[in-house]
Amino acid sequence: RFPVGRDDHRLRASATSREGNLSELFALNGKNAVVTGGAQGIGEAIVLALRDAGARVFICDINPEVGNATAERHGVEFVAADVTDSASVETAFEHVATTAGSLDVAVNNAGIVHNHPSEGLADEDWRRVMSVNLDGVFYCCRAAGRRMLQQGSGSIVNTGSMSGHISNHPQPQSAYNTAKAGVIHLTKSLAGEWADRGVRVNSVSPGYVGTEMTKRGMSNEEWRRVWVGDTPMKRVAEPREIAPAVVFLASDAGSYCTGTDLVVDGGYTVW
Ligand code: NAD
Repeated sequence: RFPVGRDDHRLRASATSREGNLSELFALNGKNAVVTGGAQGIGEAIVLALRDAGARVFICDINPEVGNATAERHGVEFVAADVTDSASVETAFEHVATTAGSLDVAVNNAGIVHNHPSEGLADEDWRRVMSVNLDGVFYCCRAAGRRMLQQGSGSIVNTGSMSGHISNHPQPQSAYNTAKAGVIHLTKSLAGEWADRGVRVNSVSPGYVGTEMTKRGMSNEEWRRVWVGDTPMKRVAEPREIAPAVVFLASDAGSYCTGTDLVVDGGYTVW
């Protein structure tokens, strides 16, 4: 074997990633996954993709009505949590780990947006966005990381945004953009801390995607014109176009990726 560095079983590429065929690399058979904000939108598409890749999937969401209905529709499980409440996150992730026997993949995707000019942005609106989009991702990473470090393996994928790299227009959303930049850098920080203990941490940063979150903006003629016009591919994404990037990073296909941010934005950030 070519000497590649530390000869630690947890750090070696798994058998499939060295010898498997392409579809085996992306397979998640036997893996247990949790997706926060999985009740709808991008999270729901990620749930479907992870399930189709072979994982046992738990939707973790603040909305039990929609979450349970989505889980039932797709043959997966539901666990309630508010990601802004670290105790609630610990309880939900412990439920997944004990019910399923391990926690192998955590997709920390729950998020909210608030559009308001910064000069008039209220303290509580700034805090609410930070609390869900940044505090929440940290609580979920910590809860997943604790369990994965103990196992010596795991893959965390955070949902960032192209807004963590650029400042959107015409809609003002400084809290959202700042929180997403934080998610991307939190991802790198944790990746560095945990890389030699078998836990990979990456993020996926979508551009504009047609979901409940963007519904209001898409119905605003000016916003839609700018969003589509400033996207080189001249359209917004469907949620299912984001999910494969998550499967790549969650699976052995992404075995040498950690701390990376995979931007899936139809080219928005090239201009
Ligand atoms: P969405 O509003 O359709 O879904 C968000 C989900 O998160 C909902 O199911 C909601 O109940 C859940 N959620 C909200 N607050 C929560 C909390 N405190 N605890 C637990 N669950 C909570 O939104 P979406 O468009 O699917 O967005 C998903 C992620 O993708 C978010 O992080 C968002 O910032 C990010 N994103 C979206 C876009 C886009 O254009 N839609 C672009 C880039 C990034």
